[in-house]
Amino acid sequence: MTMTNEEIQQWTKKYPLLHQIMNVTPVTWLNPNLRNLMDTADMPVTYEDMIDAAERWQRFAPYLAKEFPETRETEGIVESPLKEIASMKHQLNDYYKADIAGALYLKCDNDLAIAGSIKARGGVYEVLYYAEQLALDAGLITLGDNYEVFAEPQMKEFFCNYSIGVGSTGNLGLSIGIMSAKLGFDVSVFMSADAKQWKKDLLREKGAHVHEFEGDFSEAITTGREMTVQKPNGYFVDDESSKHLFLGYSVAAFRLKEQLNTAGVTVDSEHPLVVHLPCGVGGSPGGIAFGLKQVFGDAAHCFFVEPTHAPAMLLGLLTGEKEKVSVQDFGLDNLTEGDGLAVGRPSSFASSISEQLVSGVYTMEDADMFRLLALLGDSEQIFVEPSAATGLLGPGKIKASDYLQQKGLDEAQATHIVWSTGGALVPEEDMQEFYEKGKKLL
Ligand SMILES: *Cc1c(COP(=O)(O)O)cnc(C)c1O
Repeated sequence: MTMTNEEIQQWTKKYPLLHQIMNVTPVTWLNPNLRNLMDTADMPVTYEDMIDAAERWQRFAPYLAKEFPETRETEGIVESPLKEIASMKHQLNDYYKADIAGALYLKCDNDLAIAGSIKARGGVYEVLYYAEQLALDAGLITLGDNYEVFAEPQMKEFFCNYSIGVGSTGNLGLSIGIMSAKLGFDVSVFMSADAKQWKKDLLREKGAHVHEFEGDFSEAITTGREMTVQKPNGYFVDDESSKHLFLGYSVAAFRLKEQLNTAGVTVDSEHPLVVHLPCGVGGSPGGIAFGLKQVFGDAAHCFFVEPTHAPAMLLGLLTGEKEKVSVQDFGLDNLTEGDGLAVGRPSSFASSISEQLVSGVYTMEDADMFRLLALLGDSEQIFVEPSAATGLLGPGKIKASDYLQQKGLDEAQATHIVWSTGGALVPEEDMQEFYEKGKKLL
């Protein structure tokens, strides 16, 4: 939809915050439609679906431990550490005057096995789901089998007759490509020509086909989808509407609950868990927020963070139009260095669920992503990619918004979890460049 000036005027009259959003000024939006009690009766996913997803991960654990040595220590469970980052909290209070009193933790998905990013939850899960269905349908396995059998040559011979495609310039492509190639699928990743060379090289090295497209990324997706479904057994991973990706992410909530228990962190009606999630199409933050609401109920308060130049979910939720509006409709250019966050339109699946359970969305400038990753590197010796640092601004933003106060909660009793979403596969030189860029801005 292309909007006329008149339509834009009507929108801005109805929602004055749009003036600032269209001026690429950072904003904090609190969701007026937040549901009080998490009831999934009319939702397209349920708690049972989450349990089902957790059990599928468990069935595949012996296979993953066998094929990805980095997961042996956790017996094939793909999970990241939860780390308290007290020095970073001091930095945020000092440099950003964030005034955080609650505890601050980093959920280190930047270190996740297999794909080095949060996509190791959603992307890997969707491929495993598909592989399991195919193998069950062909009578090659039963649910009770030891899934180490997926590493056997006869399985690879079977899967090489099936094609998987995905359109992605970044981490989704890496996760789908790496996991699919390992299982023996004929996998193609469709990228725009400007995608980083190291990603193309890495994917090819792992056995994926990389197709590059000149021009717009949406062309890579459209053509990629056509090329994939034209193949006799073609399956296209659709980031914009996938339930499987969403459920793969949701399982993180069960794991986080255990980690919080181990860390001795209390979460209840007086001790809120405030979670800060970087948002692209919304699958990863939506899936995790859904899971957290299931596990912690209203004690979990989930905030999404987006770049000022690409606030796709914010525009979708603020206007209520969800995937029907894009950032371009509002005159924004969708240009950001936050990989995975340069998204013009939110996922229809994720936005319809997120609109009921996200506490709010805030936006930030690219320069702050770099400042924050440099501060995190200096204070905690943790190095993450730009998009992964975005949530670090959140605790201060939430404090300033009075969100907790309005709910009668004391921020000093809160535990903030900043979800760090990627970084482990970024080459050393690139990471060094990010860091130096951030240092110059401080
Ligand atoms: C994909 C990605 C996100 C956002 O996930 P969505 O499901 O697109 O919302 C955030 N950070 C990183 C590093 C990512 O790769």
